Amino acid sequence: MFESLGNKLQDILDKLGRERQLTEAQVKASMREIRMALLEADVNFTVAKDFVARVGEQAVGQQVLGSLNAGQTVVKLVHDELVQTLGGESAQPSLEKSGNVWFMVGLQGAGKTTSAGKLAAHYKAKGRRVLLVAADTQRPAARDQLEVLSKQVGVPVLKVADAEAPSETRRRIEEHLARDPRDLVIVDTAGRLQIDEVLMDQLAALKAELAPTETLLVVDAMTGQEALNVAQTFDARIGVSGLIMTKMDGDARGGAALSARTVTGKPIYFAGTSEKISGLEPFYPDRVAGRILG
Ligand code: GDP
Repeated sequence: MFESLGNKLQDILDKLGRERQLTEAQVKASMREIRMALLEADVNFTVAKDFVARVGEQAVGQQVLGSLNAGQTVVKLVHDELVQTLGGESAQPSLEKSGNVWFMVGLQGAGKTTSAGKLAAHYKAKGRRVLLVAADTQRPAARDQLEVLSKQVGVPVLKVADAEAPSETRRRIEEHLARDPRDLVIVDTAGRLQIDEVLMDQLAALKAELAPTETLLVVDAMTGQEALNVAQTFDARIGVSGLIMTKMDGDARGGAALSARTVTGKPIYFAGTSEKISGLEPFYPDRVAGRILG
C-alpha cells in the first residue's frame, strides 16, 4: 500500500534534503504541499488546516525512517495520522441479539434508501431477521423504491403513511413485531435537498419516539466541502452515532470522509461502492487515506 502512496507528493517532497532528522524548515515546506493535497482531495479547509498543524508539530525532530528519505518520511507520518483520524481499524455498528433499531438520516439523494436496502441484504445474509420501515415521506418515490428493494432482498417492509404521527409509526412497528418478530429494524427517513429546520424537527420527533440504537448519517462522498456542514448540523440536531459514506466508487478522493469524521468524531461504518444492492463494504481507513494523498 505505502509503496504506491502519494507518488506525486513524494516527488515534490524528494527535494527536502538528506538530514536524518526532520527540521522545522523541512516540515514547514512539506506541510504546505500536504495542505494542497488535502484541499485537492476536497477536505474542508478548516479540517485540512488543523490536521496539517497537528501533524506538523509531531513531525519536527522525528527521525527519518529507515530506508526512506525525508519526503517519504513526512508522507508516511501524514498517512498514519490520516488513518488514525479516519478511525484506525474498520468499525461495525452495535448489534444486540434483539431490539436493534437503526435510523437512517441524510440529505435527499445521499443514498439513504439504497443504503437501507444494502444493509438489509448484508445483515440478512448474516442471519438477521430484518424489517425495513419506509418513513421517507418527503420524496414521493422513496417508499415504493424501498418496497422494491425489500422484495429484492426478501424482507418485509412497513410503509409509513403521509403525515403519520411518530407515535402511530411506533405503534405500527410494535404491532408488526408482535406478529412477526424481527431483531433489526432499519428505518429510512425523509431527506431534503438542503438542511431544513422543519425536517430537523420532524426527524428529532421521530427519533425520540423510536429510540433507535444507532443513528446512521448517510453522506455522499461526492459532496466534498458540503459534507462538513451536513455532518455538523445532523449531529448537533439529531445526534449521529455512525456514518455511511456513499458513492465511494465515484471519482471523489475521500476528503468528505475526513471532514465528516473529524467534525462528528463518529465512526464511519460502511462505504457504498455501487448502485447495486451488493455495493456495500466496510470502510477501510488505510485505503481512503491512500486515496486522499493521491
Ligand atoms: P436518498 O434520497 O438518500 O434515499 O437517495 P437514494 O438511495 O435514492 O440514492 C440516490 C442515487 O444515488 C440513486 O440513483 C442511487 O442508485 C445512487 N447511489 C446510492 N448509493 C450509491 C453508491 O454507493 N454508489 C453509486 N454509484 N450510486 C449510489
